[in-house]
Amino acid sequence: MLELEVLESYAQSLDRSLFLDEEYQSFASLNRPLPIGYGQTISQPTLVVEMTYLLSPEPDSRVLEIGTGSGYQTAFLAHFARRVYTMERVGPLLRQAKKRLAALKFTNILYQEGDGSGGWSEHAPYDRIMVTAAARTIPPELLEQLAPLGRMVIPVGPPDLQELMLVTKDLAGNVKNQVVELVRFVELRGKYGWMEEKKRE
Ligand code: SAH
Repeated sequence: MLELEVLESYAQSLDRSLFLDEEYQSFASLNRPLPIGYGQTISQPTLVVEMTYLLSPEPDSRVLEIGTGSGYQTAFLAHFARRVYTMERVGPLLRQAKKRLAALKFTNILYQEGDGSGGWSEHAPYDRIMVTAAARTIPPELLEQLAPLGRMVIPVGPPDLQELMLVTKDLAGNVKNQVVELVRFVELRGKYGWMEEKKRE
C-alpha cells in the first residue's frame, strides 16, 4: 500500500491553485470542493488523498482515470504510477488540464476526450481505475478492463449522495465490492450516468 504520509506530503507540495481559474485561486488552500466551470468541481484535497490511498497505485501501475476535470487528481496518479490514461467528456476542461499537467512536466499521461463510462478498451487491462463522477451502477466495461489483482475506486449512487466503492479483483478474476464512505460527486454522464445525455442538453 502507498503510505498515507507520503500522499499527504505530496498534497502539501502540489499547489492546488494551479488547477483553478483565477477567480477561485485565493480559495485553493481551503479543504473544500471548488467550481472549475461547465458545472463541474475539483474535489477537496483530503478526499483526493483518501481516494488515491484507497486506489494505492504502484510505481509500475497503469491507471485509467474517468473524469479528468481540472487535472488535480490526475497529478496524484501520474506522480505515483507508471502511466495514466485519463478521459474527460468536456473538451475545454481536458485541454486546460493537459496544459497544466504539461507545465508541471508530466510526460506519462495520455488524454482522451469523450464518454469514459465504457472505459478505454484500446489500452486495457488497467491495474487501477479511478472514477471521479457518480455512476448509477458499476460499469461492466470497467470491471472487464480491470486487470487481475486490480483495484477500482468509484462513487456509486444518485446525484446528491453516493457510496464510495472500492472494487478489487483477485488473481482468478473474482470481484469484491466494499463501501468505504458517503461522498458527493457530480454525475457521470453517458451510458451509466443518471440521465440520458440528450434529455439534459
Ligand atoms: N477529478 C477531477 C474532478 C472531476 S469532476 C479533479 O480533480 O478536478 C468530474 C468530471 O467528470 C467532470 O469534469 C465531468 O465533465 C467528467 N465526466 C462526467 N461524466 C463523464 C464521462 N461519462 N466521461 C468522461 N468524463 C466525464
